[in-house]
Amino acid sequence: MISTVTPQTYERDTQAIAQKLIAAMQGGGSWLTQLRDRAQLEDKLLTWTMSNPGLRVQLFRLIDVLPTLSSKAEIARHLQEYLAVPGVELPSTLKQLLNFAAPDSLPGQVAATTFTAAVSALAHRYIAGESLPQVLKTIEKLNRNGMAFTVDMLGEAVITEKEAHGYLQQYLDLMTQLAQNVPTGTAGAKVQVSVKLTAFYSQFDPLDGPGSQAQVSDRLRTLLRHAQTLGVAVHFDMEQYTYKTITLEILKALLMEPEFRDRTDIGITLQAYLRDSYQDLHGTIEWAKLRGAPLTVRLVKGAYWDQETIQAIQKGWPQPVYSHKAATDANFERMTQLLLENHGVLHAAIGSHNVRSQAKAIAMANALQIPSGRFEMQVLYGMADKLAKALHDQGHRVRVYCPYGKLIPGMSYLIRRLLENTANSSFLKQSSAEGAAMEALLAPPEVPAQELVLPRSHFHAADPDYAQENLRHQAHQALASVKSQLGRQYWPFINGEATLTASSEPSVNPSEPATAIGQVGQATLEMAEQAMAAAKTAFPMWAKTPVRERADLLRRVADLMAQRRQELAAWMVLEVGKVQREADGEVSEAIDFCRYYADEMERLDAGYDRDLAGETNAYRYHPRGVAVVISPWNFPLAIPTGMVVAALVTGNCTILKPAAPSAVIAAKLAEILMDAGVPAGVFQYLPGSGSQLGPYLTKHPDVHIIAFTGSQSVGCRIYADAAILQPGQKHLKRVIAEMGGKNGIIVDQSADLDQAVAGVVKSAFGYGGQKCSACSRAIVLDAVYDTFVQRLIEATQSLNVGIAENPGTAIGPVISAEARDHILGYIAQGNAEATLALAEPVPESGYFVSPTIFTDVPSNGVLAQEEIFGPVLAVIRAKSFEEALAIANNTQYALTGGLYSRTPSHIERAKAEFEVGNLYINRNTTGAIVDRQPFGGFKLSGVGSKAGGRDYLLQFLEPKVITENVQRQGFAPIEGIDL
Ligand code: NAD
Repeated sequence: MISTVTPQTYERDTQAIAQKLIAAMQGGGSWLTQLRDRAQLEDKLLTWTMSNPGLRVQLFRLIDVLPTLSSKAEIARHLQEYLAVPGVELPSTLKQLLNFAAPDSLPGQVAATTFTAAVSALAHRYIAGESLPQVLKTIEKLNRNGMAFTVDMLGEAVITEKEAHGYLQQYLDLMTQLAQNVPTGTAGAKVQVSVKLTAFYSQFDPLDGPGSQAQVSDRLRTLLRHAQTLGVAVHFDMEQYTYKTITLEILKALLMEPEFRDRTDIGITLQAYLRDSYQDLHGTIEWAKLRGAPLTVRLVKGAYWDQETIQAIQKGWPQPVYSHKAATDANFERMTQLLLENHGVLHAAIGSHNVRSQAKAIAMANALQIPSGRFEMQVLYGMADKLAKALHDQGHRVRVYCPYGKLIPGMSYLIRRLLENTANSSFLKQSSAEGAAMEALLAPPEVPAQELVLPRSHFHAADPDYAQENLRHQAHQALASVKSQLGRQYWPFINGEATLTASSEPSVNPSEPATAIGQVGQATLEMAEQAMAAAKTAFPMWAKTPVRERADLLRRVADLMAQRRQELAAWMVLEVGKVQREADGEVSEAIDFCRYYADEMERLDAGYDRDLAGETNAYRYHPRGVAVVISPWNFPLAIPTGMVVAALVTGNCTILKPAAPSAVIAAKLAEILMDAGVPAGVFQYLPGSGSQLGPYLTKHPDVHIIAFTGSQSVGCRIYADAAILQPGQKHLKRVIAEMGGKNGIIVDQSADLDQAVAGVVKSAFGYGGQKCSACSRAIVLDAVYDTFVQRLIEATQSLNVGIAENPGTAIGPVISAEARDHILGYIAQGNAEATLALAEPVPESGYFVSPTIFTDVPSNGVLAQEEIFGPVLAVIRAKSFEEALAIANNTQYALTGGLYSRTPSHIERAKAEFEVGNLYINRNTTGAIVDRQPFGGFKLSGVGSKAGGRDYLLQFLEPKVITENVQRQGFAPIEGIDL
């Protein structure tokens, strides 16, 4: 339909409608004035947060942890730990409240009670009820006031299939109850529920489109059928951006099925803060025309702005949301217009607390003469009561979104509402600001020019964002293409040439061992000698090559890897059984190593000078000689790349001996180095037997540096061998050995269990536990032990185990038959010392081991002490935080560690006392990023400084200091010298 009204008329009408709404709303003064008048503590909390940003953050964090604190003393302790901190200015009421000496004193208890009551009152303002009877009461009241409603059930994050089934069942029950108990009366009073797609399937993942679609659609069919028998309407909420495209795809497909195609009591949601939402609305309109029967689109601005923005920055992805609120507001108006102009196919639900946005929608609806029933306004419960009433009084249908549920799962909802209510850019906050001119507030949103410029991606290579369909497609294509290249022959590469060997070994796909990924020529000891000689010969030339040229070689390698990103990931999926996302992360890490070490070497190349009158002192770095790099299979690209390019950029000639199970990927690295132009002799690729080539290379008198990553036993042997002076050897060898770990994550009572369970599952079972950083011990405090363990087991059970290339797979195979048998041996042994809490059947072909959980594991036993390097997690019970920390430190390793806690004093203690090279707080313990989290451990986890960190390259360099006396006969230039 063509709009017959000009923008000017819309604008004039908008202003008039808005003024009228505001006049109606101002009956009882602004909401802030009312807050002040009421002056309850919960109201004060809100006003304080708006005047003091430091306090705002701390208060919200405290509110977040509050439901997990079980005693008044604990609450009192956290009140002090969160609020009595530097940088937070406390209003006098709070200062008084916090003025107690001991958390378990009487004043402490009073403080705890007062604060808890205030937060609970605050929560009840936004949550329509904690139980069904309460929610029914709320609905009755809304009905009396002529408001329609939609009910949303608050829940914990769905991370287990049990929870996903439970969610469906609870909604079926809820609909039945609502249908039975809500009287049909006013036009808008038809029962409506709002649901979230991700809650129907715990493994919902855009990368696994078909798998997620099958599971979710199945459950949605049950939901929609039940709704129909009851006459209940269903609205689908929209969640984070990553789920947006697949959510729309699933809903569009489902609603085209003959059974559902005629249904008109169904709605979907679009978020105007997304840059691509206008396009999505277009697509939805076209689709709705094709479908025939109209649906409702709820247009909202979007509730995850902070989260989307933080994620985009951390991952280096383009920001999916507009960075300025005004741009969102403007887009909201554009979308409102498009939606209303198509009211024949899509009915509109305008969800906003912004008077202008609502007024504009009304102005357009009036002009377009949209029949009632095709247009309604929506607000969130407790957020804009006066606006809702004013809209209703002016004859519009208003629907209130009513979340209901218990306080703990409700906390994240409450925090989202508080953030919105107190954000500087929020209409709600602005409308209450002192002296804010209404005209300015109601003026058309002005979009700043820079809004159109996407924020610059940071230094790190970004993993593919599978919210983008084309990237999913590329990954799929790459896999197909690599599969057509399987079984080829790879040769050692020595002195610039492929060197044919007498024997070859297949490298196989651990998901399907009958498939050979490639045939790898096995280098002999003679070839190792040739490689050594070539490296030695090339060294003087390479050492003299300007740093700039060496650094540029690395940058070319990085570029080639970036070009071949999907292909390299596909090789990893097939050769070592990594799932797609893990493989993607690894390509990014390899690229980062190249770019980072290139920059680092240029930084180091300057050295430093300490000149004074008559004397110059120059500190400069020089290459050492020949570097032997021995790499493991578990990070088959990133680790050899990191070690090799570090050796090359520092001017050392290098021999790479890769691990046999990943020799083909290492050959791809060699290929890329050649393509990037590495000179003959500077780099050699030497696949072959580790137990023969390894000792030969490491004991060789011409070797200067050994960069090893692998097991503790091999690392220690290399360290010992390297110390022995060989005949003819005129130097001592430098050994960098990154070895194993027995990494623990502590979960205390204040932990966010949604986060802790998901984080431990990811850390323990990502890549089947075959990461040196993997969590193999969960050390859990008594108070949360049972709850944690139960969810942990259910969440782990929900993971799909299968061939790595299947996008629905969370856990692929282990690397080899030997590895599998070795792990199974530990599991058998573990049965004697702990309780086997989870072991599932696994596919028979392929080297699969079930994700395995042992509970009540003794902290000194085999399961808790030895690196198993597979999907085996030992859960250990601790009585106190002190004990947990002692258990965590009680191993020979010190690689990674984790803590889930929202108790500031525990976090501080862990920072000081947790003996690990990399400590992760409130996140998973794997996936270190170059420069951001330089990686490596101490104790028996390794010797040397951190990969991807500022000290790493120093290990490949020999510093020299040149001192020159520049004084001649008592004369020396003194200009520019510090005297
Ligand atoms: P591994 O020790 O069996 O093999 C590592 C490499 O050493 C392979 O290339 C192998 O061929 C070679 N090798 C074997 N025997 C040798 C010998 N006698 N002399 C010289 N080289 C020899 O380890 P893996 O199974 O490939 O890798 C898993 C281990 O690596 C785990 O212990 C894990 O914790 C560790 N790892 C540590 C880090 C870290 O950064 N700290 C990173 C990844 C892996």
